[in-house]
Order: sequence, then C-alpha cells, then structure tokens
Amino acid sequence: MVIKPKVRGFICTNAHPTGCLTSVKEQISYVKTQGDLSVKPKNVLVIGCSTGYGLASRITAAFSGGAKTLGICFEKPPSEKRTGTAGWYNTAAFHQQAKAAGLYAKSINGDAFSHQIKAQTIETIKQDLGKIDLVIYSLASPRRTDPDTGEAYVSTLKPVGEPVTSKTFDVNKKVVHEISLEPANQDEIDNTIKVMGGEDWELWIKELNNAGVLADNCITTSYTYIGKELTQPIYGRATIGKAKEDLDRASAALKQDYAKIGLKAYVTSLKAVVTQASSAIPVMPLYISLMYQVMKDEGVHEGVIEQIYGLFETLLLAETPAMDEANRLRMDGVETNDDIQGKIKAIWPTVTTENFAELGDYKGYNQDFLKLFGFEFEGVDYDTDVDPLVEW
Ligand code: NAD
Repeated sequence: MVIKPKVRGFICTNAHPTGCLTSVKEQISYVKTQGDLSVKPKNVLVIGCSTGYGLASRITAAFSGGAKTLGICFEKPPSEKRTGTAGWYNTAAFHQQAKAAGLYAKSINGDAFSHQIKAQTIETIKQDLGKIDLVIYSLASPRRTDPDTGEAYVSTLKPVGEPVTSKTFDVNKKVVHEISLEPANQDEIDNTIKVMGGEDWELWIKELNNAGVLADNCITTSYTYIGKELTQPIYGRATIGKAKEDLDRASAALKQDYAKIGLKAYVTSLKAVVTQASSAIPVMPLYISLMYQVMKDEGVHEGVIEQIYGLFETLLLAETPAMDEANRLRMDGVETNDDIQGKIKAIWPTVTTENFAELGDYKGYNQDFLKLFGFEFEGVDYDTDVDPLVEW
C-alpha cells in the first residue's frame, strides 16, 4: 500500500509505518547522544506509552537508563485495507529497537481506565518484573468509562466562568480568525475532571500498591500544562485546567497515602508541543506556531524528547528536586519566562491570515503535526509500497 496523509480537521486518519519507525529511531538517537542518565530507573511502567510525552518517557527510560519498560496504550491495529494508528506503529518500532538493544519491553493495548487492563498489567509485572520503581502517567483522552459504575464521561474544552473571545488558527481552512467560546456548565467541568483529573492516576497507584508491586521509594508523575495569559483563558483557567488542578490534589493525596513505602508523587509541567492531544485544543495551533517561531529564533526550542530527557536527568529522578510553590516539577520555565511570552504577546495582535506564515512557524507546526503520523521524514520514500500489517 502507498500511504499518503489523510488529514481530517485536527487529526490524520492514517499513519506510515516506516515514518513512525524513523520517528522513534530519531528520538532514540537523541537520548543516546545525551548520554546515560545519572540516576537510572530499573522497571518502568508508562501509562500512555505510544505517542507524545509518554513515548518520549519510555524511550528515555529505556535507551538512556537501560530500564525494562512496560507500556499501556489504546491503539488501533492495522488491517489489509487500513493502516494502524501512529501509536500502534510507534509501539512496534519501540519493541523492534528495544529487542535489538537487548532491552525488555512489553506493551498492553487496551483501556487503561478499566480494572481489566490494570489487572493484566499487575499480572505482567508479577511475572516479569517483580516491582516497579517509576510510574509515568501520560494519558490524554477525550472520554473515560468509570470502571465501577460503567458510566461514560466526556471531557469538554471550554472556558470557565466567563465567555472567551480569542484569536485562533483554523487548521482546515488555513485562516486566522476570532472564536467565541461559551463557558462550560458545572456538569461539563465535573466530567472533564472525571476524565483528565487525578482519579484514575490514584486508582492505578492504589491497585499497584495493593498488589505489592510498587518498590519502596517508587516515583510517579503525571503531566500538566500551565501556560500563561495567552493560553490561560482556554487552558489554565478553563475546563482542562480544572482537571489539571485535580492532579495537584491527587499528587498530595498520593504522597500522604503511600508515605509508608516512601512514594514520591509529582505533577510535572511541560512545554506546549505539537501532539495529537494538543492539536485538538482551540487556540493552541496559533499559540504553538508563534511560540515555536520565537523559541527557534532565540535558539531555545525543544520538542517532546528534549523536554523529557531534561526532566529525567535534572528533576524527576533526583533525590530532592527543585519544585515550584505548588510542589510541581517545572520544565516549562523557558516557554513561560517573561521575555519569551513578551515576544509572543507583541506578535499576537498583529497576526492575520496573510502574514501568519511569516510571523509564526506554521511550517514547523504543520511538519511536526504530519510527523506525529510518520509523514514528512527525510529519507522515507512515501511513493513506495509498504506493508501496513506490522505487529509487535
Ligand atoms: P498524546 O495524545 O500524544 O498521547 C496520549 C497517550 O494516551 C497515547 O499513548 C494513547 O494511546 C494513550 N491513551 C489515550 N486513551 C487511553 C486509554 N483509554 N487507555 C490507554 N491508553 C490511552 O498526548 P500528549 O500530548 O503526549 O499528552 C500526554 C500528557 O501530557 C497529558 O496529560 C497532557 O495533558 C500532558 N501535556 C501535554 C502537552 C502538549 O503540549 N502536548 C503539554 C504539557 C502537558
């Protein structure tokens, strides 16, 4: 099958296996050039391991730390007629590379919110790993079924309190325009917290601990985005921000509840980057394009793998890492500093459809977006027939 990108709105509905392999290899090569981590995790569970920040976490743990990794993801396998999802091919690529490097890797494909997948994970840990010393929680999902009640919850991307009007970039029509978003009602806020808040992270830790598979002094982190004035109306102070606030509650509760085993539970704030999750958030494509341009001009741009390698090496695994006033680990300091934000804010009011390509890095944004699905990689021949049926 010759595979060309099929972009529908903010998603690409197919993926290229060779491109995804190239993407994983590039990330592995980056962490290898950075060298071994000073503190190495041994047995790492990555929940949301197949794309974005979770995949980068898995690659860093394995290829800079020599860790055995068990990954959980929710991806579609390929068929004769349809390609698999990018996360499917990334996971296959990760397995292939890990095997070649003599590294243990197993992945479980299914709904991480369910009791069944948690139980299957625990069985695998007991059989293969004994205990886990690092749990990365990197799920991004628009829906969650409560495993006890069976009730399905859907998250919403809306402001809270007041309506918001903001500039945005329509990736379909390729125009810069104003959008007005009505505030969420209480149900929508509560449902977003139910999906993207800390409840499932706490459930994972509870079930892992009850099964006796968490090592003493185990570390766990979930990922958040805080942002500044330009994104706060639609992110930090919006429904998704409320869910992220709930992660702060959960990390404090986890530390307290599992003090006996010395659990260290952090929320880590990461830089905004192009991923499948961030592409779906209004205003983010515009903000990220301008921020990329400013950060590239300043020579301080970072993608997922640079952020995560930096996190593992400087904060996450350290005995006593620097934390902010809310006990979070911060990897977003450069993006959110006044100088960078001031430069983005200066450009923001002047951006129009006509000058967007010049003022912002939409080219870089779009290329990164296509790369998420294995397209746009140099050295991959996209006119060649490839077999979509890749297994792991
Ligand atoms: P992503 O869409 O690239 O990855 C999501 C992962 O979750 C995938 O591995 C997917 O398979 C998995 N997943 C989704 N639903 C699942 C389910 N029901 N069961 C099992 N696996 C499931 O997202 P991302 O952008 O890497 O986001 C990861 C975390 O990082 C999120 O908490 C996000 O808020 C946070 N974050 C993202 C950004 C950003 O700019 N992208 C910035 C800061 C923080």
